[in-house]
Amino acid sequence: MSDSTSTYICNACGWVYDPQQGDPDGGIAPGTRWEYIPDDWVCPVCGVGKEDFECVTKKPDMAEENNSEQVQATASLVIVGSGLAGYAVARELRKRDTSLDITIITRDGGEVYSKPMLSNAFARKHQADDMIQKDGNTMAKELGIEIIAGTTVLGIDRNTQQLMLQKNGENSSLSYGRLVLALGADPRIFPVEGQQLVDISTVNDLDDYRVWREKLNPGDHILLIGAGLIGCEFANDLVTAGYQVSMVDPAAWPLARLLPEQIGNMLVDALQRAGCKAHMGRTVIRYTANESGLQAELDNGTIVKFDHALSAVGLVARVDLAREAGLDVQAGIIVDRFMRTNDPLIFALGDCAQTEAGLLPFIAPLLAESRVLAETLTGNETKLQLPAMPVVVKTPALPLIVCPPPVGADGYWTVEQSNDEAVAVFQSQDGTETGFALAGKKTELQKSMAKRMPDLLPAEDATLESVTEVSKADDAQNYECDVCSYIYDPAEGDPDGGIAPGTPWEDIPDDWVCPVCGAGKDDFTAVS
Ligand SMILES: Cc1cc2nc3c(=O)[nH]c(=O)nc-3n(C[C@H](O)[C@H](O)[C@H](O)COP(=O)(O)OP(=O)(O)OC[C@H]3O[C@@H](n4cnc5c(N)ncnc54)[C@H](O)[C@@H]3O)c2cc1C
Repeated sequence: MSDSTSTYICNACGWVYDPQQGDPDGGIAPGTRWEYIPDDWVCPVCGVGKEDFECVTKKPDMAEENNSEQVQATASLVIVGSGLAGYAVARELRKRDTSLDITIITRDGGEVYSKPMLSNAFARKHQADDMIQKDGNTMAKELGIEIIAGTTVLGIDRNTQQLMLQKNGENSSLSYGRLVLALGADPRIFPVEGQQLVDISTVNDLDDYRVWREKLNPGDHILLIGAGLIGCEFANDLVTAGYQVSMVDPAAWPLARLLPEQIGNMLVDALQRAGCKAHMGRTVIRYTANESGLQAELDNGTIVKFDHALSAVGLVARVDLAREAGLDVQAGIIVDRFMRTNDPLIFALGDCAQTEAGLLPFIAPLLAESRVLAETLTGNETKLQLPAMPVVVKTPALPLIVCPPPVGADGYWTVEQSNDEAVAVFQSQDGTETGFALAGKKTELQKSMAKRMPDLLPAEDATLESVTEVSKADDAQNYECDVCSYIYDPAEGDPDGGIAPGTPWEDIPDDWVCPVCGAGKDDFTAVS
């Protein structure tokens, strides 16, 4: 049993349950120990259950006092990046090997914080520093690793296995035995006429949040560009915190690639009721500034006056370092199922990596990646496989969970909607369910719906198995007579009609007839 001070970290989003604070919004009073939280309680940030939390036990300091100024001459395993992916793999490695030399290099401060909470931090009245769970020195001691913070990796020399580093304008180098790239992704900004007049913000890390927060004055009007997952979360957060928000997106409804139209429209209604003005199907064509302030002209002529602009139009994986080092890159750094690049000594995970399942810029996939990578790096080569991984959209105006169908999937949504709740299932043309979306109270169906979905990245041998199983199932398919409803079951056959038990439908002679009504084979239909 934990003590009253044991904290628990959400493996999905990094949020930490601290018994002293409880989770009053989720009905958990301050002072509630972990054991006494009901089993159906979910993470207030990302919605996963108690089983996805891990006790954060205070580890004995494994390292000498961390000296982030010092650059080592050699390091056997170097991780670039101290985001959730970089730290996740360091933690997983340490669980498996207590003596491995691990160094993290990061251009930021090395603080641990929950990036998903950046998009609901205003409503929670969090300053940037409130979000820091641990600083780099604490992490270095707890994990027994070295953290070289404030240091940018400028290049990778694969021949000499050296990283070129820069800190405060000074260059140095560091050797690596094996290298893990956990570089994350950069926010995209679409160029628009007059953009130089506007200081367009993006919030993709703690430092961005700090700067963004300092810009805003109470009641300011914010132009929010992008109504995707993160854009809608920011919109909801900012209106809840008392700002005026005008959200603009060329798509006809928000989260257009993840939601069917009906649920997208429910979200628009909910956000508008919360105070956000949504300009869907519109783009900003020009920015202007005059004595009354900044304004954006939309493609239908609408003028939106605003004080600050926030862009949330997607991310671009950080691939430049890898590309310049001659590694294979497409939209992300290409990795195989072991998270290995085309250089056997270099690996990648998190937002910068592109697996067979494509780019997966979410927490649950990066945690799964960190586990298989740690296994492989400690000598137990393990292939990545991913179940369906629904994502919680943090829009309290309309709680949503999305499990998107594969990109470009050919199929259709079926939506059951009543008042402010809905269940939508995406089916491919052959009827297979490949995605879903839940709104309002129906979000409680998350786990049962996820079980119905195919794996995001099936186990390679499981793929074979399931193919075999499907063909066996086909062999074992029953057939129903359309005329009299007699069922032909291959296991039973039709001994009186000369068909031995175990005969699949395909092997029955064409002149065989239904033993009940005499209809021919043509009058039978496959049934499950
Ligand atoms: C506002 C917001 C809300 C989100 N909400 C959710 C959510 O609810 N659920 C969910 O599943 N996902 C969510 N996500 C996505 C999720 O947070 C990311 O997938 C995840 O945090 C990415 O972690 P990462 O470690 O791969 O990248 P990052 O956190 O970006 O870390 C990259 C690291 O690499 C370092 N770095 C980069 N280049 C260099 C270099 N050249 N030299 C040295 N260091 C370098 C950076 O300093 C940083 O430390 C959200 C994202 C955002 C922005």
